[in-house]
Amino acid sequence: MTDCIFCKIVSGVIPSKKLYEDNDVIAFHDIHPIAPVHFLLVPKLHVAGLSNCALEHQALLGRLLLLAPKLAGEQGLDGFRTMINTGKSGGQEVFHLHVHVFGGGAVLPKV
Ligand code: 5GP
Ligand code: ZN
Repeated sequence: MTDCIFCKIVSGVIPSKKLYEDNDVIAFHDIHPIAPVHFLLVPKLHVAGLSNCALEHQALLGRLLLLAPKLAGEQGLDGFRTMINTGKSGGQEVFHLHVHVFGGGAVLPKV
């Protein structure tokens, strides 16, 4: 996926403020944060979005969600919000699966 921004971040072609990396997942701070702490959990494997996931991605999806509280805690958050935008009409702009994690500062509005 040569034209995918997040694949380029995974391969190091585009720099990022990385906060975590293992064999399958990387996490980095969002370039346009909407909260005092706002980072993205991204699988190294290129999958366009949640609608493109299948049973083979089940463990990876679990890994992403389990990392959210661990990394949020390391960033000093005692609570946080997760968001997965899916598809254009779901607000997705980068078509490489990612989980937003954000929090800190003011209490988040109820959704
Ligand atoms: P989406 O709307 O697809 O769920 O979110 C994409 C997110 O990626 C946006 O919050 C946007 O600010 C972030 N983003 C887009 N390009 C880059 C980049 O080059 N570096 C980083 N760190 N974040 C990016
Ligand atoms: Zn990609």
